[in-house]
Amino acid sequence: GQKVVLITGCSSGIGLAIAVTLARDEMKRYYVIGTMRDLKRKDKLVEAAGDAYGKTLSLLTLDVCSDESVKQCVDNIKDRHIDILINNAGVGLVGPVEGLSMDEMMAVFQTNFFGAVRMIKEVMPDMKKRQSGHIIVVSSAMGLQGVVFNDVYSASKFAIEGFCESLAVQLLKFNVTVSMIEPGPVHTEFEMKMFADVSKKEYAGTDPETLHHFRTYYLPSAMNIFQGLGQSPEHIAKCTKKVIESPRPPFRNLTNPLYTPIVALKYADETGSLSVHTFYHVLYNLGGVMNTLTIRYSSEIMAAEGQKVVLITGCSSGIGLAIAVML
Ligand code: NAD
Repeated sequence: GQKVVLITGCSSGIGLAIAVTLARDEMKRYYVIGTMRDLKRKDKLVEAAGDAYGKTLSLLTLDVCSDESVKQCVDNIKDRHIDILINNAGVGLVGPVEGLSMDEMMAVFQTNFFGAVRMIKEVMPDMKKRQSGHIIVVSSAMGLQGVVFNDVYSASKFAIEGFCESLAVQLLKFNVTVSMIEPGPVHTEFEMKMFADVSKKEYAGTDPETLHHFRTYYLPSAMNIFQGLGQSPEHIAKCTKKVIESPRPPFRNLTNPLYTPIVALKYADETGSLSVHTFYHVLYNLGGVMNTLTIRYSSEIMAAEGQKVVLITGCSSGIGLAIAVML
């Protein structure tokens, strides 16, 4: 009665945490196949899994960018039977577009988009035949809202969201469910790799003004966001387990409630202007506006001649914060 779960990219971060969480399920409901490109990197997973390793967790090699590797891995599984496929493998890319090579950009799509598509293509036909299965993709909040200087990464996540949103409809007919997990910032190697990469790169070909915006405005705010809002990989694993165990698993699953207002902004104004202008103000003016707000607050709120006074409740986060900043 155990469900077979295959997870990609399990040597670190969210993939490792999901593998451990499911393999250590108290009722032993899951048989987890944790996969990674290079089994030499298995130690962290094996250690975290403890006595589940060899019982409810086994390991296989899998590179989502290789047809042969994917086929070989799935062929190695008894009857090719996978109940739950978790597409987690992914890479980040940050920086001004002018300073990134086309090869770097395509590599992001090769892993984040085509890697997941390759997996789904290999596993989905068997699920359809059996009329059961659950396909999960670790997407991102950036798969729902573009973020400045994350243009290509965000596009790769939008791409897989669009692919899955389309596929989910026909798969429903075969009793196969599709779910996206959309984390905000998470403390993993992803974060470390990104900031290490940024400090090494020169982004040759980028004009000085854009580089200034990237390094002076974007990077400090990105670091603050990771520091202030970052979740743990274990938290994402718990959210994923909840989705798997839900009687009607939702298609979209933001893991961080602080990100729901961002999506709400998008749907509140279908022209997209509200989102674009809000993010512009958050990036370039937030520091200044925060100062104005504080000064006005402490000097008993004095509007200048001709200004309209606007009182907004609930401004410490989300929509209230966004509207306050915009005005
Ligand atoms: P991570 O770097 O710790 O994990 C990514 C894993 O994918 C690594 O183990 C890496 O080796 C593996 N991988 C990369 N290319 C692969 C390939 N071709 N084949 C197989 N495995 C490959 O980072 P993470 O944060 O755990 O990332 C997991 C997923 O979560 C990614 O899809 C990422 O886009 C997404 N995500 C991360 C964050 C974050 O802030 N960390 C936020 C939202 C979404």
